[in-house]
Amino acid sequence: MELNEPIESAGSGARRSRQARVAWGSRVVSVGGDAPVRVQSMTNTATADAIATAIQVKELAQAGSELVRITVDTPEAAKAVAHVREQLDRMGIDVPLIGDFHYNGHRLLSDFPDCAKALSKYRINPGNVGKGDKHDRQFAQMIEVAMRWDKPVRIGVNWGSLDQELLAALMDENGRRATPWSAKQVMYEALVRSALESADQAHKMGLDANQIILSCKVSGVQDLVSVYRALARRCDYALHLGLTEAGMGTKGTVASATALSILLQEGIGDTIRVSLTPAPGESRTQEVVVASEILQSLGLRSFVPSVTACPGCGRTTSTTFQELTQQIDDFLRAQMPVWRKQYPGVEKLKVAVMGCIVNGPGESKHADIGISLPGTGEAPAAPVFIDGEKRMTLRGDTIASDFQAVVQDYIAKRFGADAQTA
Ligand code: SF4
Repeated sequence: MELNEPIESAGSGARRSRQARVAWGSRVVSVGGDAPVRVQSMTNTATADAIATAIQVKELAQAGSELVRITVDTPEAAKAVAHVREQLDRMGIDVPLIGDFHYNGHRLLSDFPDCAKALSKYRINPGNVGKGDKHDRQFAQMIEVAMRWDKPVRIGVNWGSLDQELLAALMDENGRRATPWSAKQVMYEALVRSALESADQAHKMGLDANQIILSCKVSGVQDLVSVYRALARRCDYALHLGLTEAGMGTKGTVASATALSILLQEGIGDTIRVSLTPAPGESRTQEVVVASEILQSLGLRSFVPSVTACPGCGRTTSTTFQELTQQIDDFLRAQMPVWRKQYPGVEKLKVAVMGCIVNGPGESKHADIGISLPGTGEAPAAPVFIDGEKRMTLRGDTIASDFQAVVQDYIAKRFGADAQTA
């Protein structure tokens, strides 16, 4: 057998964008340029309820959201923004807050300077800033506030609220073409043009190009890929990426992962949000978990130790294997808010939980720490592999908690303060 050409690893493409700084106090979250792709999320509390909003922002930040957007839709909400910020500062949560403005943002940002100051970035939807003469005037008013307070803006176009005057003008223009484009192509153009023309307008007013982030969200996977490829080709602004109105559960998760992965693999996207509709009672943090997993699966970021687990089969008919996998996954995620500070680098840890000897020992040896159950019907004895070598065998009903203790011990030794200074 001869070795021919080596198979290269697939790496993600690199689109070099401008870099925006989204800051609160000493915390600076760079977006774009050579910064890592950032995870964003958005609250679903009424912002006027400052305590409930601050608690949810805290949950989202602790789940790994690096920027959190809040709705600012009424004077009451605008008044509450500074209180939300104060609550967060008091809790030691320095995540930058983004204000989401539609229709009345020009008034709220001008009338409530404490709100304008407490926010770290403003999201402006050019389709929702007024019609006719008012559009340019009200858009300009928001950009002036952004410049006054030195805040970046996201010009966030959404096809559910696309600037209808721009769309109508492009439809007319298209009607005069010898070979008209399809309605979909005109729609794509309108989305991209709305973002780029608004960015140009803001830049001409004096807003630094590095303070501008663009997004053009649509709800179809192929549409999103088409629109963002065009947007990325036609500008070097940092891009916020997300499949809007992705839906619930499996559908929303898969559609978001599919769309975002195609674009991220091409180097398109500097910050992402997964817009999941939570099931009643489901935590809002699920959208952060999914966004983080997309970036981690692509090898772009590491957020939590990864758990490699086999799917189970006829050799694992009891629930022991599933319970063990679930428990270790929950354990690792639950510890991360503390471990992130205590054990730098722990997010790169690789853990394997396997159901039987077919692939169990092999996969466990590839991980930093792995456990392989014996399969159904055999005595519950599970070898544990550490750094590729079998170190012990766990037995009995306490395998799950014993394995957690082994993992905790390994992490303390490898990522703890002593390891850092050794
Ligand atoms: S490792 Fe064993 S239990 Fe897991 S899927 Fe493969 S054969 Fe089945």
